[in-house]
Order: sequence, then structure tokens, then C-alpha cells
Amino acid sequence: MNASEFGPLLVSYDDVAGAARRIQGRAHRTPVLTSETVNKRTGADVFFKCENFQRMGAFKFRGAYNALSQLLPEEKKRGVLAYSSGNHAQAVALAGRLLDIKPVIVMPMDAPQVKVEATKGYGAEVVLYDKHKEDRDAFARKLAGERGLAVIPPFDHPHVVAGQGTAAKELFEEVGKLDYLLVCCGGGGLLSGCAIAAHALSPECKAIGVEPALGDDATRSFKTRTLQSCHNPETIADGARTHSMGKVTFPLVMAYVHDMLTVDDPELLRTMFWLWERMKIVVEPTGALAATALLEGKLSAKGARVGVIISGGNIDLRWAAQQRLASR
Ligand SMILES: *Cc1c(COP(=O)(O)O)cnc(C)c1O
Repeated sequence: MNASEFGPLLVSYDDVAGAARRIQGRAHRTPVLTSETVNKRTGADVFFKCENFQRMGAFKFRGAYNALSQLLPEEKKRGVLAYSSGNHAQAVALAGRLLDIKPVIVMPMDAPQVKVEATKGYGAEVVLYDKHKEDRDAFARKLAGERGLAVIPPFDHPHVVAGQGTAAKELFEEVGKLDYLLVCCGGGGLLSGCAIAAHALSPECKAIGVEPALGDDATRSFKTRTLQSCHNPETIADGARTHSMGKVTFPLVMAYVHDMLTVDDPELLRTMFWLWERMKIVVEPTGALAATALLEGKLSAKGARVGVIISGGNIDLRWAAQQRLASR
């Protein structure tokens, strides 16, 4: 195992390749889209890896399936627990159903009813807790302890990171070497996995993470070379409202990522609608982070070959329409 001054590097390209074998035939090999309009606007050759078309609507299925499939037989029998009200919950629920492992998802009592229903729809048991009275981590750990469930974290786990990296592996296999790879960043699971794949498959490629300006903990961590956190950031990019990177992802980001960029919420909203209207793809705010950095000119990419990960497309259309009207 390699180590860096920031901690052990717990994921290698071999782990990403292993994950790719495990998810084969279970996860979708998502399409790579190109657009003449985008190429003209940026002066670059741009390739969008569209994880909004992944099963359950986001890349998170890759990591969840990779992690669940490597549990020990006794763990599989007892079941798994995840705490999330977002895409990770649905990813663990679906992976559990496919692998015949019982998923238990812990959500706050005020989670949107549509999310609770969607998660139940994948066959999970949803356990609600009162976030004003109980600490989420303590509640989840207690429940997992009582029932002997394996806790599957949303990003800070080597098997989750390796699974997320398969998105970039597929992109390089399809389009060849790139100069830049832009990846959105919450807790850094997708970013670190994809940066590991870039390092192995296109060694000159610069992997760049993109965060919302209102939740820029990873960018500050990267620049100061010390793990930083954010308290409940209020960005519309709900998949990137994480407090900080973790013990697994922070050293990997420091080792494999070239730079970090931020975009603000109005830029994000503009890009999200641009992707809908011009490229005909439904993308959620967090899913549009990487594309926003490129389309809003945060990176000068003239003449370069650029990969952009579109990470997910789960969005409430009524909410989006309201945002659109409010921004006019
Ligand atoms: C979870 C999520 C992210 C952030 O992923 P991390 O691995 O936590 O950095 C980005 N986009 C979408 C759509 C997500 O669901």
C-alpha cells in the first residue's frame, strides 16, 4: 500500500479495474455525448460522460454495487445500512435488491416524501429519525449495531471510491486520451476514483474537481493542504453539501487531482437549463457542476480534449421550474 503525507492511499487502479468487472452487466455503460455547439463555444473537443443515464439516475450505483458485492456472506445475510436522503440511499437500495441483501436507509423525518417513496420503491426499509433531537451518525451506528448491519458510507470507503472510478475508466476506453477531466466534488468519492483512472489510462490528463462556491471545503482543503470543513452549506447543489472530504478521499485527492475550481449557484442554474434546452439532457444541479466550470470559462481549454462527468439527473421538475422563474 502506498502512503502520502496526508494518509494512506487506499485505492489503486487495480481496484477500479476490479470494480469494473464486478459491475459489468449490472450497471449501465452510460453514453458519451458530444456537441458541436459546446465545441464552438469553448474551442475544445468536449466529451460528456452521462451518468444521469445510470441506473437510479446517478453514478452512485457504481460504488454502492461494488461495495455491497464484496461483503462477507454473513454480512450479506444480515443486511446493510446507509444514511442519506439523496442518491446514495437509492443506490444502496437498488444494489441491495439486485444482490439479495436487505437495505435499511436512515433518513431525517423531514426528508421529501418523494425521496422516501422512491427509496421504498427500490425495496428498502426506511427508518426516520428526528434531526433536531438525534445525531444522525449516532442514531445510524446504534441501529446498525443492534441489527448487525454493515454501514455503507456515501463516499469515504475504498470500495465506493473504486466503483465511482469506473465512470472515468469507461470514458477513456471510449474516447482515448484527454488533456483535462472535469469532475464534480462533494465528499470526493467520484473525483478521487476518476482521478485514479485518469492517472492510469491517460497519464498526462489533468483531473480537476469542481465544487459549489457555497460549499468549497474541498477546494480550501486542496489549496491549504489541510482538511477543511463547511457547516450545512446552502447551495442548490444538494449532492455537494457534504461537510468535508474523508480519511479515504482526502489523501487520494491530494495525490491524483491537479486542481480545484468553484462555480456559484446562478452559474450552475444557467448551465443546468442550458444542458436541458440545448443538449436535451436532464441534469440535476450537482450533476452540472463540472460542465458549469467549462461553459462559464473557469478553465481555458482552447484546443484541448476535455472530458466532463455529468454525475446525475434526479431532480424535482416543479422545483426547477420555480428556480427558473425566480431567476428571470
Ligand atoms: C453524491 C453526488 C455527487 C458528489 O459525489 P462525491 O463522491 O460525494 O464527491 C455529485 N453528483 C451527484 C449527482 C451525486 O449524487
